[in-house]
Amino acid sequence: TVRVRFAPSPTGMFHIGGARTALQNWIYARQHDGVFVLRIEDTDAARNKPEWTDGIISALDWIGIERGTYEGPYFQSSYAADHTAAATRLYGEGKAYYCDCTRDDVVARSANKHTGYDGFCRDRALGPGEGRALRFRTPDEGETVVEDLVRGKPTFENKLLEDFVIARSDGSAVFLLANVVDDMSMGINHVFRAEEHLPNTPKQQLLWEALGATPPVWGHVPVIVNEKRQKLSKRRDKVSLESYRDEGYLAAAMRNYLMLLGWSPTGDREIVPWSVVEEEYRISDVSHAPAFFDVKKLRAFNGEYIRALSPSEFTQVCAPWLSGTDTIPAPPWDPAKFDIELFLTIAPLAQTRIAVLSEIVENVDFLFLDEPVRDEASWAKAMKEGAAEILDDTAAAFGALADWSADALKAALEQVGEARGLKLGKTQAPVRVAVTGRTIGLPLFESIELLGRERTLARISAARA
Ligand code: GLU
Repeated sequence: TVRVRFAPSPTGMFHIGGARTALQNWIYARQHDGVFVLRIEDTDAARNKPEWTDGIISALDWIGIERGTYEGPYFQSSYAADHTAAATRLYGEGKAYYCDCTRDDVVARSANKHTGYDGFCRDRALGPGEGRALRFRTPDEGETVVEDLVRGKPTFENKLLEDFVIARSDGSAVFLLANVVDDMSMGINHVFRAEEHLPNTPKQQLLWEALGATPPVWGHVPVIVNEKRQKLSKRRDKVSLESYRDEGYLAAAMRNYLMLLGWSPTGDREIVPWSVVEEEYRISDVSHAPAFFDVKKLRAFNGEYIRALSPSEFTQVCAPWLSGTDTIPAPPWDPAKFDIELFLTIAPLAQTRIAVLSEIVENVDFLFLDEPVRDEASWAKAMKEGAAEILDDTAAAFGALADWSADALKAALEQVGEARGLKLGKTQAPVRVAVTGRTIGLPLFESIELLGRERTLARISAARA
């Protein structure tokens, strides 16, 4: 059986690159009736926090890798004794040796050559002790060929691989070894992970072999870059899956988009049901080039996914923004003033116009606030010369309407404009700002119809004050 794993380190918010890797492994397991294992690599005690682990698990859940459908989570820290035992075994078999060189010694001896460790302690037959790390003895000849479904057969000359450290002087194993020991004991036979690990791969493959096991098939996936072709970074870019979720990206849109990084489905289409992705995705077809994470495109995708929802699904997915959650701010209105019936009436207008769910708030807040927000830029733009007169005429025209409907409201405002030789757009602007607080929003006359006569007229007169 195919056994894949996703092995994140819980040292921060869950990165979209991690989500992509997790999905790639997940899809591969699904395609081969295999098993997906989640292993939390929590060995860096200084940087790990339990809440990051919870964040990873709930983010995976959100993106479709649900709790209970995979094996684990296992925690790497529970297997420390196995890691140390593997190191001891390699030492016992002469495949590793102790080394007491300090970093400074190594640097001084390698002078300007960037060759890494020079093997100084190889034949000194040191035993364990204070200040002595255990190094793996890499072969001097031959090459290590990596079977990589994405990159083909990356080949490494063994003589260029330094004798690398596998355990610290306190006996604890380093990442390279712990990662291999766990993969071995968890029966992992396919490892799909970020390209940044490729330099580790020949070393890890040698460890697999030294420990008497068959190395996995690898797949190293190119990095994700921003619009400046820089590798996405926590400091510079928005990279956490949670931040996209909280801004109102739908999980279905997000995972569809993530899979399109470096890959596309058959036919002339990009937005496809997840079942098509699960069927057609081939890790071996993933491009070698860095993948551009285009937030604009993701937004457009998300808008399409939003429009494809049924009205009741749309209302459901909007709920977190209508009330707030632990991570999503509460809307600006008093919850007691929220009217679900009114919301259901306006929701279809919003559904066709917003690209991310958080935008629902600014589109409907005028209905639930006593006074509309006052967006200063909108105000400055719309309340120019002539605006006061337009508002006065509009108040009179609206006040005289027997039929408070969008059509009648529109006709009334058109007349106000015609009397002054103005196009509807010009007449509309101050009215929209008076009523909703902003120059941009949902269709104006439907909005005014829903807001009602009394509140509309009060707002127009407040704008004149
Ligand atoms: N914990 C490592 C990471 O998050 C895992 C690397 C691997 O997948 O082997 O980068």
